[in-house]
Amino acid sequence: AGKYSMCSTHRYEPSDSSSPDVPGICLGVLVREYASLSQLDKQYFGFPGEILMRMLKLVILPLIISSMITGVAALDSEVSGKIGLRAVIYYFSTTVIAVILGIILVMTIKPGVSQTADNIDRTGTTPNVTTVDTLLDLVRNMFPENLVQACFQQVRDLEHPSSIPLSTHTENITKEYMIIGSYSDGINVLGLIVFCVAFGLVIGKMGEKGRILLEFFDALNEATMKLVQIIMCYMPIGILFLIAAKIIEVEDWDIFKKMGLYMVTVLSGLAIHATICLPLIFFIIVRKNPYTFTLGMAQALVTALMISSSSATLPITFRCAEENNRIDKRITRFVLPVGATINMDGTALYEAVAAIFIAQLNDFTLDVGQIVTISITATVASIGAAGVPNAGLVTMVIVLTAVGLPANDVTLIVAVDWLLDRFRTMINVLGDAYGAGIVQKLSRRELERMDLMSDVDVANPF
Ligand code: ASP
Repeated sequence: AGKYSMCSTHRYEPSDSSSPDVPGICLGVLVREYASLSQLDKQYFGFPGEILMRMLKLVILPLIISSMITGVAALDSEVSGKIGLRAVIYYFSTTVIAVILGIILVMTIKPGVSQTADNIDRTGTTPNVTTVDTLLDLVRNMFPENLVQACFQQVRDLEHPSSIPLSTHTENITKEYMIIGSYSDGINVLGLIVFCVAFGLVIGKMGEKGRILLEFFDALNEATMKLVQIIMCYMPIGILFLIAAKIIEVEDWDIFKKMGLYMVTVLSGLAIHATICLPLIFFIIVRKNPYTFTLGMAQALVTALMISSSSATLPITFRCAEENNRIDKRITRFVLPVGATINMDGTALYEAVAAIFIAQLNDFTLDVGQIVTISITATVASIGAAGVPNAGLVTMVIVLTAVGLPANDVTLIVAVDWLLDRFRTMINVLGDAYGAGIVQKLSRRELERMDLMSDVDVANPF
C-alpha cells in the first residue's frame, strides 16, 4: 500500500481573502440603518452568500470519499489502526478537557443565577431526543444499508413525515433531527467514513489490482482540491454577503443584553480552550509554536466563523493544514474528515455551560452525580452532533433530559445560538487541525518507516 507520492507540489498563499468579516459587518449595519428591505430583498441580498455555501457543500461528498479511501489505502492496516487509535484518544481527551473547563467557568461565573427563566423569551420548538436514541442512531448511521442513499439522503419534511424514507430511526424525526447522528446536509458522513475506511483497507491490500482504483480516487481528490482552490477565490464575496445578510436579518438585538453573561461564559471558555488548553497540549507533544500553527489555519477558522459548519469548512481545513501547516496528507485524509464529524470540543463545552446555565435559571441545584452526568452526556451530545449549523442546540436536549431539566428550556437559548454556534464551530475546526498535527507527530516513526519501505517522497513535517 501507499506506493505513490502524496506530496503537494504547489504552495498555497494563505488568506488572500483577508478577513472579510469586518466589511461584512459594516455593510450589514449600513444597509440595516439606511435601507428598508422587504423579506424578498433580504433574500436577494443574501444570495451571493448562499451560493458560497452551496459550492462548499458541493465538494464535501467527493472530498470525503476520495480523501478517506486514499488516506486509508496509503497506510497499511496496522499503521492506520494506530493512527486511528491516537486520533480517537486525542478527540476524547480534548473534548473532556473542554467540558470540564466549561463546567468550571459556568459554576464560577454563574450567569443564570441573577435572573429567572421567565425573564428570557422562548423561541422555537423543542426537539425530542434521548441519549439512547442518539447513541443508537450514531451506530445505525455507521452502517448505512444503502450506499447511494447514504450520499443523497433527503431531509425529512415535517409536514409530510412519511414521504421520505427513514434515515435514522429516531421517532418524530424532523428536519432538525437530521443533524443528530452525524448527518450533514443530507450526507450520512459517518456511514460514508466507515465504508471508505473499510474500502480503503481492502484496496490497499489488493496490490496491483487495487492500484487502478487507488489512482482513480487519488485523481478525484486532486481534482476536488483544485475545485476548492477556485471556490476560495469567490470566498471573500460570498462571506461578505453571508455576514451582512445575517446582520440585517437579526431582529432582537436586546436579547444579547439579557443573555450577556451566559455568552461571555461560553465565549471565554472557547477562548481559553483555543488559546491555552489546545496550544499547551500541542506544544507538549509537538514541541513547535502552536500559535504559528493556529495562524496557518486562519482561513479555515474565519470560514468556520462565517458559515457555522465544520463539514462545509472541511475543504478549507484540508488546504490550510496541508499547504500552510504542511501536515502529511496521509494524516489529514484520515484525521480531518473523522474529526469534523465526531470531534467537537467547542460544542461539548457549550453544551455543558448551557445545561448548567439553564439549571441556574430554574433555581435547580445540581449534585455531583448530575454534574458528572452533564459531562458525560455533553461529550456524547457533541459526538452525536453533525458538523452543520445549530446541531449542538438540538443535541442539547440529551443533556437536559439526562439531569431532569425541562427539554423545553432549550428554547431559552435559541435566540443567541446563531452567534455562539459560529464561535464553537471555529474551535471545533481548530481542534481537528491540532489533532492532525499531534497525530502526525506521534505517528512519525511509522510514517518514516513506510517512506523507507516504499521509497516515497512524502510530505514533510511542518
Ligand atoms: N455548528 C457546529 C459545527 O458544525 C456544530 C454545533 O452546532 O455545535 O461544528
